[in-house]
Amino acid sequence: MSDTSAVAEAEQLVAEAAGSDGTPAEGPKFTLELNQDQKDIREWVHGFAEGVVRPAAEEWDEREETPWPVIQEAAKIGLYGFEALGQFWADETGLTLPIANEELFWGDAGIGMAIMGTSLAVAAIFGQGTPEQMGEWIPQCFGAADDPKVAAFCSSEPDAGSDVSAIRTTAKYDEATDEWVINGQKAWATNGGIADVHVVIASVDRELRSRGHAAFVIPPGTKGCEQGAKVKKHGLRASHTADVHLDDCRVPGSCLLGGKEKLDERLARVREGKKAKSQAAMQTFEASRPTVGAQALGIARAAYEYALEYAKERQQFGRPIIDNQSIAFTLADMKLEIDAARLLVWRAAWMGRTGQKFENAEGSMSKLKAGEVAVWSTERAIQILGGNGYTREFPVERMHRDAKIYTIFEGTSEIQRLVISRAISGMQIR
Ligand SMILES: Cc1cc2nc3c(=O)[nH]c(=O)nc-3n(C[C@H](O)[C@H](O)[C@H](O)COP(=O)(O)OP(=O)(O)OC[C@H]3O[C@@H](n4cnc5c(N)ncnc54)[C@H](O)[C@@H]3O)c2cc1C
Repeated sequence: MSDTSAVAEAEQLVAEAAGSDGTPAEGPKFTLELNQDQKDIREWVHGFAEGVVRPAAEEWDEREETPWPVIQEAAKIGLYGFEALGQFWADETGLTLPIANEELFWGDAGIGMAIMGTSLAVAAIFGQGTPEQMGEWIPQCFGAADDPKVAAFCSSEPDAGSDVSAIRTTAKYDEATDEWVINGQKAWATNGGIADVHVVIASVDRELRSRGHAAFVIPPGTKGCEQGAKVKKHGLRASHTADVHLDDCRVPGSCLLGGKEKLDERLARVREGKKAKSQAAMQTFEASRPTVGAQALGIARAAYEYALEYAKERQQFGRPIIDNQSIAFTLADMKLEIDAARLLVWRAAWMGRTGQKFENAEGSMSKLKAGEVAVWSTERAIQILGGNGYTREFPVERMHRDAKIYTIFEGTSEIQRLVISRAISGMQIR
């Protein structure tokens, strides 16, 4: 094709795109440019992360306690609470939630989790509750601005981590009193025992394995719901993690998320051999994966930025260490991997919010990539800082400890690969 005919063809295409009457066609739909609301929220959360969270990070990591004063600060400015989550969720593109999480966790992941841990229970109530249950329980998960509370989502058990179907906690319906009686032990629950509202996954029919699971709200102060051992952790130490014991714990019938009628219908379908529409715990995990990935991204970015500045300042052999390609290329790769992970996170968040089908487990992809990038980048940051990186005088060792959980909770990296490989192959890969 000659140059002139190529130009003519291009002109023809432009004319067609503009429409027959010559008016310009609608602008391009695909954009990665954030809108003003998204930019404003990013700046707002970043300001809190920089001014309040970061300066407190070391102290609360050492204390290994829930940073209530910081949660209170977040509640006061409207960053912790039902309204904030509603505001993030209202963004129809789905991007505001990951953007806010990335910024907060850039400040510090332990404190970030102390603030965001409640949202896992909220997501379960939001995803599975009736409108009345949402109205009743979601505000109670957060408490009031001057007296904030936290909530816990309890699925894992000592013998049921990756294998959710092995859950042994049972819920039996007592028809005489219209109550559910819950018995079992939950493990590694974020905010377990210190939460006002606990959401517990229990089996109502063990034979049906995960298809016999249901989610229950345990209201504040319910007898028989007690904190077990508090877990001492490698990282994320400002976030409380503990076992939860459920001992003849009685909750009103109305605490079954979604209601009994819906549960009975679902169980009947499963017993008839029809496909169950949902599995209680898996639904919650699937919806929250890109948000969890965004938290990992925040840690990775914090470590990368710290290492970049350090590498420009630190002099060895009479020149900044970034003058060495091995250091500069590592930083280039860190930036590249973080940006690539963010694109996966944003894609999955957008797909989830706009109701696209996750044909290839894109939610799992985003969490897998971001978690592994966070572990790798924080480890590289320690290497770039050398001896200083290994000490508690510098923040990158804490970031590395915090990052590691992102290849474990909300589905380990192996489980994410399992989900992805099953999605792409249509086969029951084991
Ligand atoms: C800090 C922290 C906070 C947590 N918060 C919560 C919470 O709020 N609520 C909650 O319910 N849970 C929570 N958890 C639990 C967490 O979700 C589990 O630890 C996680 O799901 C992994 O389960 P597991 O620890 O039993 O590991 P296991 O399932 O025993 O896995 C051990 C190893 O075996 C691998 N493996 C297992 N099965 C397979 C397979 N089929 N194929 C290949 N590899 C496999 C895993 O990938 C992993 O590497 C938390 C855990 C921690 C540490």
